Amino acid sequence: MHCPFCLAEYTKVVDSRLVAEGNQVRRRRMCLSCSERFTTYETAELLMPRLIKEDGSREPFDEEKLRSGMLRALEKRPVGLEQIESAINQIKHYLQATGEREIGSVVVGEKVMEQLRQLDEVAYVRFASVYRRFQDVSEFKSEIDKLEQAINEDTSADMPPVE
Ligand SMILES: [Zn+2]
Repeated sequence: MHCPFCLAEYTKVVDSRLVAEGNQVRRRRMCLSCSERFTTYETAELLMPRLIKEDGSREPFDEEKLRSGMLRALEKRPVGLEQIESAINQIKHYLQATGEREIGSVVVGEKVMEQLRQLDEVAYVRFASVYRRFQDVSEFKSEIDKLEQAINEDTSADMPPVE
């Protein structure tokens, strides 16, 4: 590529390394004319499918919207940003791997719930309660009951045997 300083045509790669968990290549380049150095980043361009909303309208996938929805559910919960980013990456990867050009927004919602459920039960219920717009209190209650049951089953496995 052209040198951004003097616009000379030839630049040389002096260093090349993988960054962002191997999803990106960072290259240090040097201009053969003015000797200035600069950095370029290379990533694969994978298309995200467009989302089909419940009313049938389409909208582009919006990573910021996904992130803010998850952060809202995870507010004040003991989950690190790295875990959240990793969950977002998994959701994106899943969507790209479908190879579909359009996908129901409901699929994204289900994926988010799946990730939140693994990260933090409270965040999961918060998200589910908004996302599924529980019709009435009893529906919400049954979801909580299911959760508690799951938690009890989880912890009972770790309990020492009663003497
Ligand atoms: Zn130059």
